Amino acid sequence: MTRQVTGQPQASAAGFWEEACTGLSGLPGGRGLNIAYEAVDRHTTGPFASRVALRCLAESGAPHEMTYRELAERSSRFASALASLGIGRGERVFVLTGRIPELYIAVLGGLKLGAVVCTLFAAFGPEPIAQRLRLGDGRVLVTTPELYDRKVAASRAELPDLRQVLLTGDPTECLQRPETGSLTTALDEAAAEFQIAPTSTEDPALLHFTSGTTGTPKGAVHVHGAVVGHVATARLVLDLRAEDVYWCTADPGWVTGTSYGIVAPLVIGATSIVDAAEFDVHRWYRTIEEQRVTVWYTAPTAIRRLMRAGDQAAEAYDLSSLRAVASVGEPLNPEAVVWGQRVLHRTIRDNWWQTETGAIAIANYGDAPVRPGSMGRPVPGMTAAVLVRGEDGRAHRDKGHVTVEQRPNTVGELALRTPWPSMFRGYLHDDKRYADCFADGWYVTGDLARIDDDGYFWFVGRADDVIKTAGHLIGPFEVESVLMEHPAVAEAGVIGRPDPLVGEVVKAFVALKPGYTPDEVLRRDLLAHARKRLGATVAPKEIAFQQDLPKTRSGKIVRRLLKARELGLPEGDVSTLEQQ
Ligand code: AMP
Repeated sequence: MTRQVTGQPQASAAGFWEEACTGLSGLPGGRGLNIAYEAVDRHTTGPFASRVALRCLAESGAPHEMTYRELAERSSRFASALASLGIGRGERVFVLTGRIPELYIAVLGGLKLGAVVCTLFAAFGPEPIAQRLRLGDGRVLVTTPELYDRKVAASRAELPDLRQVLLTGDPTECLQRPETGSLTTALDEAAAEFQIAPTSTEDPALLHFTSGTTGTPKGAVHVHGAVVGHVATARLVLDLRAEDVYWCTADPGWVTGTSYGIVAPLVIGATSIVDAAEFDVHRWYRTIEEQRVTVWYTAPTAIRRLMRAGDQAAEAYDLSSLRAVASVGEPLNPEAVVWGQRVLHRTIRDNWWQTETGAIAIANYGDAPVRPGSMGRPVPGMTAAVLVRGEDGRAHRDKGHVTVEQRPNTVGELALRTPWPSMFRGYLHDDKRYADCFADGWYVTGDLARIDDDGYFWFVGRADDVIKTAGHLIGPFEVESVLMEHPAVAEAGVIGRPDPLVGEVVKAFVALKPGYTPDEVLRRDLLAHARKRLGATVAPKEIAFQQDLPKTRSGKIVRRLLKARELGLPEGDVSTLEQQ
């Protein structure tokens, strides 16, 4: 028997989503549904037109504000510019910038054209960027001159399908880079009017790469209809309203930063704070105080960093504007909830979702009491369950069937009943990997969880080897591949080593080729090599030399065992290993 838990007593899941749709307009004349129209253009004829949509904080200097009307106009110009470049519906437009206004203009403009928009994390190194542009068949890239020079220019020749790179800022920057064009000039010269493409709820809109245990990153495709999920959950879980000053600290290079950093707040009509700077304890508290932030959506690593700075750091600021605080991306430890109650005078509400779900699926929401350490319960419209393997011990996805025997409080794989509006509709160019995620009408998430007697979900860990560091999902294979490019490396196995601050730290075990000495100089060289290629977020922070990496008889490195040995945990079944 499967223990299924639905969000709340309700007429039907479909009823919840249907009601959520009523807050949306649809394209004029019944021409379809487009996220960008819901987010900006429909506001331009009403009272929200002159409302501030984005208040962008530069690293220093005065904030730059953009109203809904301005954002609608600038994004229409970008859509016109894309059309004159010959970009068609369904083609991929990539954005690689920091958190600056151009990012929002490019995302919304791309959506208006009916293109599929992919945002990339600016802290990625050249390798993850080139790989994603290649896998996603990027046609246009919007980036900054600085990021272009450091991270794209060298691989440009390997990206023949990338037709145009548009650089933000001063147009003269392009003179030194004749293979690029100027976004500023393109926007100035493009038509300010653009008729939004008549996209349907099922047309692809956003592409987000996420990491698996093996192989290349997976491009999760999301459709325009996902906006229903973004908005309904932002209202319900984040308690987001039009009058709010809202701060989502996630970078739009990751899914939280688009679903809840771009789409949901704009559709709802709130004012978003967009901070270009990196984390800093005092800057963050000051931002809440000065901007009078009312709803704050952030992540456990950031909360733990604030906790480390001590209560006094917080007490120096007036944080009383905060009405709702929510957290996502990694487990939120119970102490963080208690700290929030004591120091912020708010209960930080943990919620769970992932790139593939497109929107929050499990959450502490409404008046339900929060159990510190639990990620809450399924939102209305979602049914979640914990699936365990059949008695024969085979994976529950064998032959496409979910074989489950579920007792209360048993750990199993978290699964969601399909479908729901923001569910991903595919992995780009990889139908098999997509199909493998489903069994018997369930989407199986790859997370391990348990449900308590009252229906609260508790995160236990990942069922696979992917690593979560500071809220960012890292595929070990991607890291191993780059380490193997180094002439000294024969083999590499990468794991996440638990860490009290960032959740997990990327740690690599490396076997060397003959003739290389495992010393400090080589270790530093390897760390620098990985950092240069992958960027600081993805690169390993620690490297250990180990000649006898545990392997299966077919020669695959067993990361599970590397981790168990690192942590001094039981090694489990080692019968299929080549050597112990
Ligand atoms: P991503 O697809 O990059 O958003 O990462 C999704 C993964 O982050 C999930 O599959 C979980 O492993 C983890 N995650 C997200 N939210 C939570 C949470 N509230 N508690 C624990 N893990 C989480």
